[in-house]
Amino acid sequence: MWTRWRISIRVFVNDNPIHYFDPDGQELQVGGVVNLSIKDLISLIPGKYRSELVVQDGKVQFKNYNSLPDEVKKYKGVALLQTMISSEKRYKYAVSEIAEGKNRVTGQPQAHKLAVEKEALEPRDANPQNAIRNLSKTERTDLPTGHEGNDLPEEGFDGAVFIRAGTFNRPHQASDDLIMDYPRNNVVYHELFENASRTEGDGGKGRDYQDAHNRAGANGNQFSKEVNGTRDLNSGSANGFDPQK
Ligand SMILES: [Zn+2]
Repeated sequence: MWTRWRISIRVFVNDNPIHYFDPDGQELQVGGVVNLSIKDLISLIPGKYRSELVVQDGKVQFKNYNSLPDEVKKYKGVALLQTMISSEKRYKYAVSEIAEGKNRVTGQPQAHKLAVEKEALEPRDANPQNAIRNLSKTERTDLPTGHEGNDLPEEGFDGAVFIRAGTFNRPHQASDDLIMDYPRNNVVYHELFENASRTEGDGGKGRDYQDAHNRAGANGNQFSKEVNGTRDLNSGSANGFDPQK
């Protein structure tokens, strides 16, 4: 009896277009090379449920989030995407060679080319050769205010992540001659989690970068077990990148 009642409520909610079309403009937008951006977001979801994520007019949505089984809603990748989709904050994810934002001091639009050379990635320093740009309205207090890694997102967004197409790696612990690839979805999850954590924060204040990074690492392990069947090898410390691979 209880189960039937719950199902009928769900059907009612799902058929209600007000819930589906999201009048508050809460959204996760894809940009850059759109099909690659979508592919990256879909890769955060366990295989069987990947067709549940759809994109309409550049906005990412679950076809029918309310009807997903509760255990699926708990998957780290699903929970992260739903947080970003349903939040009052506006997010953008783009696979791109260019990261667009605004200078935090001057408010002027900025565009920075992302890394094109091997071993150019140093995520912790957010240096100009980085293959990633992770921008939030919440300032990084570990970087100077005018540093490009501390740019604001483009107008209309609270958080934005840009990642160049390619493969992340780092030297093997046993030998510098061996290079270990990271599953790209570990990097995507890490950066999006970090961005959402910084941007959402506690009561809208935002978490500082280091805290958001640490939480991304901790949650990334569970994410990777669920989707890749193995723990995250610490994508937050990747220090190599190959744009051709
Ligand atoms: Zn990080």
